[in-house]
Amino acid sequence: MRPLIIAANWKMNTTPADAGELAATIAARTEEPGVVRVICPPFVCLAAVRDALAGKNVAVGAQNVHHELAGAYTGEISAAMLNGLATWVIVGHSERRRDAHESDELIGKKLARAVASGLRPILCVGELLAEREAGRAVEVVAAQLRGALAGKDVDALLSAGFVIAYEPVWAIGTGRTATSADAAAMADAIRSTLSADLGWGDAAEDVPVLYGGSVTSANIGEFLAERSIDGGLVGGASLKPDEMAGMVARAAVTAKARAAAAGKPE
Ligand code: PEP
Repeated sequence: MRPLIIAANWKMNTTPADAGELAATIAARTEEPGVVRVICPPFVCLAAVRDALAGKNVAVGAQNVHHELAGAYTGEISAAMLNGLATWVIVGHSERRRDAHESDELIGKKLARAVASGLRPILCVGELLAEREAGRAVEVVAAQLRGALAGKDVDALLSAGFVIAYEPVWAIGTGRTATSADAAAMADAIRSTLSADLGWGDAAEDVPVLYGGSVTSANIGEFLAERSIDGGLVGGASLKPDEMAGMVARAAVTAKARAAAAGKPE
């Protein structure tokens, strides 16, 4: 059974002075069984969030990582620097594809570095609005997957707990979401790209696929009702404890229902 995951991407919000308190509040408000919780604050807040979450069963993630371990890369953060601060990392977020011009090839290198360094990666993929309107969404996402994943060590990725987040670019921070049916169809297409195009076979079924893009406590239920969607990567709403409480509570209901359906009640 795939885990249910709610991952918070705080983007460029919070400071070292206030991030710990926010993380502790969210941790206290989201104590639900069966849901993996992850908070990804800015780099400079990682230590404060790690300290605030100690013993609380909420993982800490970074929002990016460099593909090299060290060297002349001014302003960058390596996997070695994250050691002891974060156990998860987001790679290939569309805001980095857009603003830092990250290519699929570079994202693939970051992914390999993350896995080799013991970080659990969330790979973000998603199409632009024009691409969806042109009927090319599945083709675009498949190309992103092939570009980042071709030739990668599948066993290493799976043992690292590799996660994919489908985040249509036009839904991020816009208040507009994909329909749950379209998101589920994309999750299926993602697994069939892994399985058939990339040769992962049945292992594709073990990869959690999250939906991201204007997820809130009011709409997450629609996505979690889809069997192929295993949680959310949440931006704006993840800064609000009430919202996080609602989303994790809803995910816990789904986790319980899926466990019962699989004959593994908690
Ligand atoms: C994100 O940051 O990955 C995201 C989906 O943001 P938002 O929830 O604000 O759309």
